[in-house]
Amino acid sequence: MKNYLDVSGRIFDIQRYSIHDGVGIRTIVFLKGCALRCRWCCNPESQNFAIETMMVNGKPKTIGRDVTVREVMETVQRDMPYYGRSGGGLTLSGGESLLQPEFATALLHAAKDMGITTAMESMGYAKFEVIKGLLPYLDTYLMDIKHMNAEKHKEFTGKENTMMVENARKIAESRMCELIIRVPVIPSFNDTEKEILEIAAYADSLPGVSKIHILPYHKYGEGKYEGLNRPYLLKDFPMLPAGKMEQLKALVENNTALSCQIGG
Ligand code: SF4
Repeated sequence: MKNYLDVSGRIFDIQRYSIHDGVGIRTIVFLKGCALRCRWCCNPESQNFAIETMMVNGKPKTIGRDVTVREVMETVQRDMPYYGRSGGGLTLSGGESLLQPEFATALLHAAKDMGITTAMESMGYAKFEVIKGLLPYLDTYLMDIKHMNAEKHKEFTGKENTMMVENARKIAESRMCELIIRVPVIPSFNDTEKEILEIAAYADSLPGVSKIHILPYHKYGEGKYEGLNRPYLLKDFPMLPAGKMEQLKALVENNTALSCQIGG
């Protein structure tokens, strides 16, 4: 049987000392490839599985490399002293890690065997059988639910939400990890009170789910589209008005039993 440390996969970045995407100080491994094409995506270089070139500050940069779990964990292990003190650990992000299920599972498995806590930021875009295979090695699932309406979800992301919404319930019912629901708040897509409340009500109905993160829209990824020679589809969209996120947080907390955090 293949040693899980020898499993290889494709990543496009490893970010150390991050205080986002999980508790404490984290090392975030970004897996390449995503099934969705969200119009607001701030990591467009994550979307294609193929290795590609992006212009960064006028210079070509290769995006994507193939690595083994052993190689990734050598970097992750360097940050062990920070994990211990802060409660941090490894976070898988992307892209959608579930598109490389053997690699993602092996990374999480290796981390747990090394005593490192694990989190995964994911849309849940895979058959539940795939997700079930990695849950034994996952402490926290940070799962995006972007919209409750399947058609609008498809219009803005390229895919309907049905499988993802169903997976959220199955993950919650498994009780195998902490499930936190995340909502990127995007102007003209899901930023009305009704739309946010529909997502929050669904999250609140999931067994064991007590937290929701609402993530404010930003345009930090706009330059990357230029670097990839691709159009940025939200170019002329307005930003969220000041105070909007606080208003949505209060709305969620006044109408559900969830604790709502702004940002991830
Ligand atoms: S799911 Fe995430 S990584 Fe994939 S396109 Fe949407 S925002 Fe980008």
